[in-house]
Amino acid sequence: MGLRFFNTLTRSVQEFAPLNPSGKTAGLYCCGPTVHDVAHIGNFRTFVFADLVRRYLQFKGYAVTHVMNITDVEDKIIKRVRESGIPLREYTGKYETAFLEDLQTLGCLRPHQMPRATEHIGEIISLIERLIARGIAYQATDGSVYFSIEKYRGSGRQYGQLVKLNFDELRPGERVSNDEYAKESLADFALWKARVPEDGAVYWPSPWGEGRPGWHIECSAMSMKILGPNFDIHLGGEDLIFPHHEDEIAQSEGAGLQPQGERFVKYWLHGAHLMVEGKKMSKSLGNFFTLRDLLGKGFTGREIRYRLLTAHYRETFNFTLEELTAARTSLARLDECLAKLRELAGNTNAPADPSFADHFSAALDEDLNVSAAWRVVFDWVRDTNRLLTDNQFSSAQAAAALAAWQRIDAVFGIGEKADAEAPREIVGLLEQREAARKAKDFKRADAIREELKLNGWVIEDTPKGARLKRR
Ligand code: AMP
Ligand code: ZN
Repeated sequence: MGLRFFNTLTRSVQEFAPLNPSGKTAGLYCCGPTVHDVAHIGNFRTFVFADLVRRYLQFKGYAVTHVMNITDVEDKIIKRVRESGIPLREYTGKYETAFLEDLQTLGCLRPHQMPRATEHIGEIISLIERLIARGIAYQATDGSVYFSIEKYRGSGRQYGQLVKLNFDELRPGERVSNDEYAKESLADFALWKARVPEDGAVYWPSPWGEGRPGWHIECSAMSMKILGPNFDIHLGGEDLIFPHHEDEIAQSEGAGLQPQGERFVKYWLHGAHLMVEGKKMSKSLGNFFTLRDLLGKGFTGREIRYRLLTAHYRETFNFTLEELTAARTSLARLDECLAKLRELAGNTNAPADPSFADHFSAALDEDLNVSAAWRVVFDWVRDTNRLLTDNQFSSAQAAAALAAWQRIDAVFGIGEKADAEAPREIVGLLEQREAARKAKDFKRADAIREELKLNGWVIEDTPKGARLKRR
């Protein structure tokens, strides 16, 4: 069975068939962060989702090109630059660095390419020129260049591929200059925004005078430059469906660079929002946690990643600290099982047991059903623990089980908890306890066990000797 996922374009679950006739490569573009501030974990839900899609495609044998842009010029950024008085690059650089650090803390693989909008002004201008030459874009009296929805539709193309739109609402000549607007204010949108005093030093020369690009055209220009005029998968949070992605389609297909009959993007994937008490987690509502807030509360990137990966991407879910704590308990079960396997396997190597990965993959093939895939993982943990308790595992079987887990973890990217190193004095106490036991001084041995417990460590007696574990 092949991989299937929900394509917003066709509003149905479809089998993934890549565009490349070799069937072995996949181009993936994910709209990246707007670096006006530190991203919140709602944003990261979407980026972890993109990471899952990329890793799973790789697991399935595709050579993936994963592109994530950095939106480093748009309305919100310019406002912040104006308010702070810090130059654009300096301002966005700080948040871009923070974003990359957070991505790493969450165990996300670095996208293969991360183009910045400000470094693609030339490509953006060429694309707008092409739209003007084709009669689909025009310069208005305010000096800005707009995309004409009427002309685009007149050329036989469809505006409203991802969402249904009511064109009776559209009044010719109406324009929106903001990047974000609702379906109800359907109007021609800005491709190039003429310089205004509030833009300060943020402007570039262009055939239409000084100005800056609109947000939507940035993604069309960068995705087509790197992945070509038509590519496999485009991904983002569901709030981007309209107008951002709808406008990306209009601009990219309006430029007519695709081969005859081909779409700009074959599969559009959208992740549902992370909610807080029933409302979208967002900066504007003030109901957000940044990754750093959560690390400050003692959670790890790994626990947060696990929690984000336990909900299906099309399901909105409420974020709570209680559930993050529950994530810690689930991971501890997994870690304990892996530690036992590692101890038993020692230096033995063995090929992965295929059935674990087969069951896991059957679950993810079904529109990335992570709940079913985690069920496979935790059933495996239960069965493995049972076999370990009954001493029914050889070191070769333990090594095969570990190799199978590593295949799964190449997709989930949870890793293994680095066993906290016991400090020297704690190790010293363990050694004293071992010496007491050898001397059959069990009273002293028990007293040391109690002392260790008070210090937060427990002794586990295993066939290979005593070892320390955090309580
Ligand atoms: P932005 O930096 O605002 O452009 O957003 C970056 C990504 O985060 C986009 O794909 C958004 O759709 C996504 N996003 C924003 N808020 C949330 C949320 N609460 N839950 C999930 N994704 C979100
Ligand atoms: Zn985008």
